[in-house]
Amino acid sequence: MTLVSKLPETGSSIFSVMSNLAREHKAINLAQGFPNFETDKKLFDLVSHYMHLGYNQYAPMPGIPVLREAISNKIKSLYGTDVPSDNITITAGATQAIFTSIQALVHPGDEVIVIEPAYDSYVPSIKLAGGVPVFYQMNEDYTIDWDKLQTLINDKTKLLIINNPHNPSGSVFTKSDVAQLERIIKDSDLYILSDEVYEHMVFDESQHQSILKSDILRQRSLVCFSFGKLFHNTGWKMGYVVAPEKLTAEFRKVHQYEVFSVNTPLQFAFADYLNDENNYSGLSAFFQAKRDLVISELKGSSFKLKPSHGTYFQILDYSAISTEDELPFVSKVTKENGVALIPCSAFYHNHLQRQHARLCFAKTDEMLFEACQILKRL
Ligand code: PMP
Ligand code: GLN
Repeated sequence: MTLVSKLPETGSSIFSVMSNLAREHKAINLAQGFPNFETDKKLFDLVSHYMHLGYNQYAPMPGIPVLREAISNKIKSLYGTDVPSDNITITAGATQAIFTSIQALVHPGDEVIVIEPAYDSYVPSIKLAGGVPVFYQMNEDYTIDWDKLQTLINDKTKLLIINNPHNPSGSVFTKSDVAQLERIIKDSDLYILSDEVYEHMVFDESQHQSILKSDILRQRSLVCFSFGKLFHNTGWKMGYVVAPEKLTAEFRKVHQYEVFSVNTPLQFAFADYLNDENNYSGLSAFFQAKRDLVISELKGSSFKLKPSHGTYFQILDYSAISTEDELPFVSKVTKENGVALIPCSAFYHNHLQRQHARLCFAKTDEMLFEACQILKRL
């Protein structure tokens, strides 16, 4: 029998590759994006409480009403936008929200604009839907030239995927980015998939410019979020998508046969926990302090770095240390020096080499300090 792969060019994700290498060489893992500290014990107690109360069977397909209500309230208080809880669907992480959105919207032959560097799940999700990724490369400073991007829009373009705050660069949208996006899509039939999993990690007094704040963009957008990022529990794989009624209906047609519904006791626990905004309002300050620790510890090192504006990632430019390509460089540093990073080339379809490595600072201060002492010596 011949097995024809649907994803012939796809291997293991760079996050598995680097985490495995870090494990094998007992290196400090600043590669894959996950915290090495615990989620709040209050959340453990809430999950256990709801399990013992017997909330262990299927949740309603779109998610439990109290959680969707709590999310709707959070959106209102953060972005001033009224989103009915019927426009919110609870998913198995943002990854499923992204995958399902793409399956629901993209038909074979449709073009999808992907802004590179791009998170690794976008392109395989597009290809599985029969879509065609069309790549736009960010400016050198990781900003977007919206006029240039607009030239990629044609009759076949169905969807534009944006990611703000941006993984891996740590760049964030300004109000002007949103205004320019509004301008370039105004006369098109384009939908938007907005990946906002790092909405609560925005630094230096900046505000997160959510697509949910724009009346024009919200009408045509699916906006994805992740509880894993919000509450430091990436292994629980919970998230949600916000979309207007028509898009939500299409999303749920796929969602109901993909997973039907997601983890019931966690949904009840999140609903309670979200109702106290102190449980997430300090996140930007918390992560900004970690970014600052990395920057100050790497002062005087041979890495060039521009402070990240959001996410829990910092780009390190190692061009003054080596001219080697990114994957061999970070692999060598993992094996020989004991710190694992992510090569940014993994976020480009053509593996663009800029001597940029991504460092994840969602780690204890002790771990960051130890890793920086090693990196300083390179
Ligand atoms: N989008 C981006 C930009 C991410 O970095 C990640 C992973 N952290 C995801 C989506 C997936 O989120 P989740 O873990 O909730 O599936
Ligand atoms: N989003 C995380 C990162 O960018 C990893 C997610 C994963 O391992 N698939 O590092």
